Amino acid sequence: MAAQITREWTGIQTFPPATLNKLLELLGKLKQEDVNTLTILVMGKGGVGKSSTVNSIIGEKVVAVSAFQSEGPRPVMVSRSRAGFTLNIIDTPGLVEGGYVNDQVLDLIKRFLLNRTIDVLLYVDRLDAYRVDNLDRQVVRAISDSFGKEIWRRGVVVLTHAQLSPPDGLSYEGFFSRRSEALLKVVRLGARIKKQDVQASSIPVVLVENTGRCNRNENDEKIIPNGIAWIPNLVETITSVVSNGSKGILIDKKLIEGPNPNERGKILIPFILAFQYFFVVKRIQRWIKDDIARESKSAWE
Ligand code: GDP
Ligand code: MG
Repeated sequence: MAAQITREWTGIQTFPPATLNKLLELLGKLKQEDVNTLTILVMGKGGVGKSSTVNSIIGEKVVAVSAFQSEGPRPVMVSRSRAGFTLNIIDTPGLVEGGYVNDQVLDLIKRFLLNRTIDVLLYVDRLDAYRVDNLDRQVVRAISDSFGKEIWRRGVVVLTHAQLSPPDGLSYEGFFSRRSEALLKVVRLGARIKKQDVQASSIPVVLVENTGRCNRNENDEKIIPNGIAWIPNLVETITSVVSNGSKGILIDKKLIEGPNPNERGKILIPFILAFQYFFVVKRIQRWIKDDIARESKSAWE
């Protein structure tokens, strides 16, 4: 593979000073914790705003955005450095095709990620969708089965199209909380997060508006209807996930080619069966044989 050229992160200069200062402060904090590189993996269905979100974070149009389903067929990593800090963002093609998770795309993504460590997973969907269904669950399950469910400890749910007026007289906060609860429920199911672990593995949900439609605050930062400047908020959430005590996910050969990482215990099943056969079944068979031998002898006598 050709050596990755890391360019200077010039796009960060396009943010208004208030955003820029906040971002530099957050990166400074990470560096204090000895984190000099962040690798962010962006996944989700097609057309939800993954590529647009990558462009928004970098502050530059680095990956192609399309209103129609003609995404780039393979993952792309964009790397930028700033004052000794390197940001890698991996944009991926949508995981769904014709109503199913596309295994070929998933495979392509896995191979692309080989030997990389993922610090944060951005799971992208839209705020302005009104239902979640089995397909969403399948997408989450595919991610969990590929990289292990621990990846959700490093997960952030990103909801794009945040500039909206809620339907049915709902308040913005009310709509947001209903949408995020519904999605989180599906994520927990798909990732097989147990009820007792829900608290410990709470996944943050962040709102994003990638178009120029949003309002701006007095510092000229793009804000969403709840008044939050969303770029600093997204980056802050990312840094908090990195510092939550969990580990980044190393995508090694074993993870990619081995059995489903969530079912490692199942490797033991043949051994358990063999143990049962030799130590339980065999012994019982011997007892029965001995018994029969004794019985038939006495009958003869
Ligand atoms: P991807 O397939 O997930 O990478 O999605 P894209 O980033 O290519 O976006 C798909 C379409 O949605 C494009 O037409 C984008 O302009 C649009 N889009 C993406 N994010 C937003 C957003 O936050 N708000 C609005 N209104 N449109 C968006
Ligand atoms: Mg895309």
